[in-house]
Amino acid sequence: MSLFSRLKSGLSKTRAGLMDSLAGIFSGRVDEEFYEELEEALIVADVGVQTAVELAQRLRERAKREHIKERGELWQTLRAAMTEMLQIEGAGLLTLQPGCLNIFIITGVNGVGKTTTLGKLGAHYSAAGKRVLLAAADTFRAAAADQLSVWAERAGAGLIRQGEGADPAAVVYDAIAAAKSRGADLLLVDTAGRLHNKANLMAELAKIARVVEREAKEAHLENLLVLDAGTGQNALAQARLFGEAVPLTGLILTKLDGTAKGGAVVGISHESGLPVKMIGVGEGVEDLRPFDPEEFVAALFES
Ligand code: GDP
Repeated sequence: MSLFSRLKSGLSKTRAGLMDSLAGIFSGRVDEEFYEELEEALIVADVGVQTAVELAQRLRERAKREHIKERGELWQTLRAAMTEMLQIEGAGLLTLQPGCLNIFIITGVNGVGKTTTLGKLGAHYSAAGKRVLLAAADTFRAAAADQLSVWAERAGAGLIRQGEGADPAAVVYDAIAAAKSRGADLLLVDTAGRLHNKANLMAELAKIARVVEREAKEAHLENLLVLDAGTGQNALAQARLFGEAVPLTGLILTKLDGTAKGGAVVGISHESGLPVKMIGVGEGVEDLRPFDPEEFVAALFES
């Protein structure tokens, strides 16, 4: 299967959802009702209210400017507007800076696919010949470090861990020292994601950030938030929350293969202003892919 077919097959539920809601409304004359129906269909497809309204507005402007009378003529405009919204600087880019340590801090609530994503990233860069180190800074759950150790072994990457309940910032401190002494290219940091205590979570992430700032000034740093695309608009709330704790540099959206709510990607990225770096469309290592806005929208629109 080609990569595009794989992506399309991963996105089949979302495509069906989006096309089910949109299909009916793109025939006939353009009237005010059309924009209302469009907004509604986009909201049903989990694109998000603000983004749905903006997309409808873009179509309205184009129709007015170019005296478009047929709804069908606006189909490609919708596709282009969605693509454009996703083309935020840095989208699809997660490249390692050569000649220095790269640190990716992976955040997100429990269950979104953080550890799996980190493992996939480790495997990917390891296979590309990079020296990779994983840091188990989710010390809240012993299982998290165990899960990471499986990935580390599989990827041929080193793992830095301490006992359950250890200070996550201390793990990161150790990991940076190890990364420096081993000449690692990439340090991937797994963090805890329990949300029931917001203040603690924020404090913990801020402390990790301070250690990185102090101990690895020359490093290239990415603060990546992992979101489960299946949670739709709730993911946007998570982006806001984590954005308050750390200066996020990008998003990774997982589980797009299992949901009909993938349209949410458009709204989450647009409304948070954060570029989508990678998407997960399955459990295999090769199912974590760089995000390409044009390809993504094409996979949604082309049956
Ligand atoms: P964490 O609690 O955020 O670290 O989440 P985990 O990494 O433990 O992942 C939770 C579950 O989601 C696991 O069963 C993963 O295999 C699964 N998962 C992660 N990413 C994807 C994806 O892109 N597609 C699918 N189908 N499952 C995924």
